[in-house]
Amino acid sequence: MARCEICKVYTQDGSEFCQRCELSLFQVTDIIKTYVEEDPPPHWLVDAIGELGWIFREYPRTKGYLNTAIEVTWMFILERLDEVGIDDIAEVNHSNLPRDKILTILEEASIITIEGEKVFPGIIVQKLRKVRWEGYQMDTPQIKSKLLELHGILTVALTQSMLNDKEYIPRRALAVFHMLSDNMINSGEKIEPVIPDYVFDKACGEMSERQKNKIRWVMSGFIDGQTKIISDVTERNGMTIKDEMVKYCEKMRERWRERDREREI
Ligand SMILES: [Zn+2]
Repeated sequence: MARCEICKVYTQDGSEFCQRCELSLFQVTDIIKTYVEEDPPPHWLVDAIGELGWIFREYPRTKGYLNTAIEVTWMFILERLDEVGIDDIAEVNHSNLPRDKILTILEEASIITIEGEKVFPGIIVQKLRKVRWEGYQMDTPQIKSKLLELHGILTVALTQSMLNDKEYIPRRALAVFHMLSDNMINSGEKIEPVIPDYVFDKACGEMSERQKNKIRWVMSGFIDGQTKIISDVTERNGMTIKDEMVKYCEKMRERWRERDREREI
């Protein structure tokens, strides 16, 4: 009997990962690959990414990664710098995580590349630089949706990097991807738009009720008035996911099955 390298449940056939972790890893990898390679990235992907940018905010264990990612992205995108000295990055010094750990995770996430004492834009930031940031006021709908996209893709890139690194498993991010994975696995021919509470509970794994509630509050818009991933909390003990997320699950499941078929050939 082997245990899943990410969530530690026993895997049936001694494989490295359980099915939901494997599908979760597939999701983050496919999101990044498609986002970087397709020009422009497809709508269904960009819409779904925009729903994920909240995951590392106000979450003490991972705040240092996100804050540093935002700081360097700001310097490369809005200040249009082409390189930054490592010592000019302030956020790495305001986290309880070691400075080198933060920089390694960001480099693995393709947000930055490091050469000696200098930091350059990684492929994710290079892609984000292609967005037209000039000429728009920050509070226009165009820039608002671009900022959601920016937060989302940085979040997915950091998730992928942390999952590969395995030193610290980002539980909140994993819960979200487990929830979506389970919905893809459990749904019949059509993706089920309502995620029952027991699926959410299972996706959250060992989290305390308090931690689970925080995720529910954020997703339902109870914190800042903006729902994320879900559009409603139903009376029948479940959460309705947004149409964008139904579409995302549909596309992602198709791509996952496609990969399995290619493997078999
Ligand atoms: Zn697992």
